[in-house]
Amino acid sequence: MNLVDLTAHEAGDLLRRREISAIDLVNAVLDQIEQREPTIRAYITRTPDDARRQAAEIDRRFASGEELPPLAGIPIALKDNLCTAGIRTTCASRILENFVPPYDATVVRKLRESGAIILGKTNMDEFAMGSSTEFSAFYPTANPWNPAMVPGGSSGGSAAAVAAGEALAALGSDTGGSIRTPASFCGVVGLKPTYGRVSRYGLVAFGSSLDQIGPLTRDVTDAALLLAAIAGHDPNDSTTLDWPVPDYREALRPDVKGLRIGVPREYFVEGMDPLVAQAVRQAILKIGSLGASVDETSLPNTRYALAAYYIVAPAEASANLARYDGVKYGLRVPGADVWEMFDRTREVGFGPEVKRRIMVGTFTLSAGYHEAYYLRAQKVRTLIKQDFDRAFQEFDVLAVPTTPTPAFPIGARIEDPVAMYLTDVFTVTVNAAGIPGLVVPCALVHGLPVGLQLLGPAGSEETLLRVGYAFEQSGDWRTTHLP
Ligand code: GLN
Repeated sequence: MNLVDLTAHEAGDLLRRREISAIDLVNAVLDQIEQREPTIRAYITRTPDDARRQAAEIDRRFASGEELPPLAGIPIALKDNLCTAGIRTTCASRILENFVPPYDATVVRKLRESGAIILGKTNMDEFAMGSSTEFSAFYPTANPWNPAMVPGGSSGGSAAAVAAGEALAALGSDTGGSIRTPASFCGVVGLKPTYGRVSRYGLVAFGSSLDQIGPLTRDVTDAALLLAAIAGHDPNDSTTLDWPVPDYREALRPDVKGLRIGVPREYFVEGMDPLVAQAVRQAILKIGSLGASVDETSLPNTRYALAAYYIVAPAEASANLARYDGVKYGLRVPGADVWEMFDRTREVGFGPEVKRRIMVGTFTLSAGYHEAYYLRAQKVRTLIKQDFDRAFQEFDVLAVPTTPTPAFPIGARIEDPVAMYLTDVFTVTVNAAGIPGLVVPCALVHGLPVGLQLLGPAGSEETLLRVGYAFEQSGDWRTTHLP
């Protein structure tokens, strides 16, 4: 048995039966990190000593007969935009290169309380702006399936770490696809929860009306376990929902009988890789063969979603990133006066994609253009939400591709912002509408993984997990497909 290939729930069972120890598990993963990091570069900061200390503590508690939560002793990686007390949190940006937060994000606190062991902070596109992790100010991360390929982004380090055995599970964040795209590209499960399901307190803000934190895992059961650990109302985030947190694992039954699955035709478009379309259609047929009904439907405003997203997200980013001025946080480059200090700090501290977003966002919010761009994009957002509302009167779940192509080569889209943005054409709609999206690996195309994306109305995580679980159990993805 190779410990680094276990899922979190398998490892949890072994720990509980005292067949393995937390320290053995952590040491195995730390060894794997040593071996794989020179190629994969999934991490920005590693905390091996802390991890070993936490593991020893968990072993002590198990030995004393204490009943511990499901994630106790499970080694987990965190995207580097989640604040960790005493551990630097860079957002893969020069401007926060040496920033050490004084507090834990709520999700980090909850994971610590559930006994999870934190291995370190993972690479990402700077401030989560990107789809490939190439916009990290430090280095790109490689796809474990083929190191010449990108792992997807912006949570590429988290997805690559889970796929490469460098963590049993991870957290990422998703503003326009940043959990789901890397999950699809790296062959892991990724869940973007309903807006407000998980607290954003301590998540470095990108687009505050779109951002959500969620799990990247080896299977659907682990996604359910992690979501249960991090979800819930938080007085520190007024946008969190005051809904009870169900036992998501309890919801997992390989049974989709009677569920109505809709397949919106706008998600199968010309220009996408026909093999991706075919693979996703086959996966949907499979779900149909398990007892769900499958019918075509339409979300007519989908075609405007990408344009609207690339107005709303940069607008919010330009406001959120105004705080990095060399005064309170991170980098300060001195100048003759305070204005020159602001200028130089931001000139040196932000990379090219972040600057592009700030410029676009500032422009679309400026007097005279605000109505033509920002307000119009907000109206489009409402239309997209109404499309989904209409579809969910008829269907429980919509099944669609995650991205138009599998992982692309490192360097292929980095000079062409529009080509990079087009990666997000099937993911941004979900954030615009605030609904949940679950990605489950479904096929290999050109030797690279492709994820099936399942969408449901706000609060439908249990249904999505159930469909994802039924699909997963009907195949043999995990045993036959390890990078
Ligand atoms: N790729 C999208 C962007 O660059 C989404 C990123 C994200 O979800 N954080 O904005």
